[in-house]
Amino acid sequence: YADSAMYLAKRSGRRGFRFYTNDLTVEAAANLALESQLRRAIERGELELHFQPQVAFRDSEVLGSEALLRWNRPGTGFIPPDQFIPVAEETGLIVDIGRWVLREACRAAAQWNAGGARHTVAVNLSARQFQSRGFVPMVEKILAETGCHPQWLELEITESLLLDEDDSVAYALSAFKHMGLSIAIDDFGTGYSALSYLTRFPIDTLKIDRTFIQKVTSDRRHAELVKAILSISRCLGHRVVAEGVETMEQASFLNVYGCEVAQGFLYSRPLTKPEIGLLPRYLTPREEAEASVDAETD
Ligand code: C2E
Ligand code: MG
Ligand code: MG
Ligand code: MG
Repeated sequence: YADSAMYLAKRSGRRGFRFYTNDLTVEAAANLALESQLRRAIERGELELHFQPQVAFRDSEVLGSEALLRWNRPGTGFIPPDQFIPVAEETGLIVDIGRWVLREACRAAAQWNAGGARHTVAVNLSARQFQSRGFVPMVEKILAETGCHPQWLELEITESLLLDEDDSVAYALSAFKHMGLSIAIDDFGTGYSALSYLTRFPIDTLKIDRTFIQKVTSDRRHAELVKAILSISRCLGHRVVAEGVETMEQASFLNVYGCEVAQGFLYSRPLTKPEIGLLPRYLTPREEAEASVDAETD
């Protein structure tokens, strides 16, 4: 890679774009290395799923969790998904990785619900997976193989997917709906979207993006937007999850305006599978936990 990067840099140097393209080729070389390692990551067991609890605002009951992918890259350590999922999407590797994620998440859900609990696991999907052949039957097969009840699985998609003219997305979503899965819109409010899709697609859950939640107690316009989203979703019968809840102030604002479910560091960071297995049924918000520790040590 170093050789080809140098060659490309020299060539572009002659064209007079050296400074700019040099950076790009270095990045391209790094991505190539990333890609070839990522190709083997599944078979080498380097991928891991963490689970971040989703909690009822009302009483802090744990309702489920979102499965979040981590890559334990040799020589680097844990890499967050934002740093390798784009490469996986560009190369199509996301199809295999996504299948692995679904199987792991379904296996976990089957395990956690075995004793009669009701813990829903949410899984993030990429557009490429919808374009892959046999995606719907593949999901069906994974549910059957892992013994995961469809009600225990929620699929998270982003708004951009719904803008796709191709009706394979609409077809897949209605098939999933018929199977009994639920569908969530992730990062709601940040995409290029038309509100009309809320009536056109079988959507169960809206996840309000973290950027709105962050400013809900400091910026009046964000507060009004979140209130409007909550009121629309109440009318349409959507469940709403607030992403990235970090403070008690945010939590009480959201609770007052009728948001039902929280996901954020105030309640819990993403946890490993063994950790979430040990979780109590009710989570105390972190501030409360810290306050009581302070009181004990005083
Ligand atoms: P997302 O689906 O919106 O997931 C929520 C992200 O917000 C997670 O980041 C989570 O750790 C982070 N988060 C949760 N609560 C808080 C909080 O209170 N404060 C802050 N600052 N952050 C919080 P993570 O795990 O780094 O994932 C980033 C993105 O990568 C995800 O965003 C999702 O789009 C993507 N991703 C993760 N796993 C998968 C996967 O299996 N497949 C696909 N296609 N994408 C995935
Ligand atoms: Mg998500
Ligand atoms: Mg999100
Ligand atoms: Mg996201």
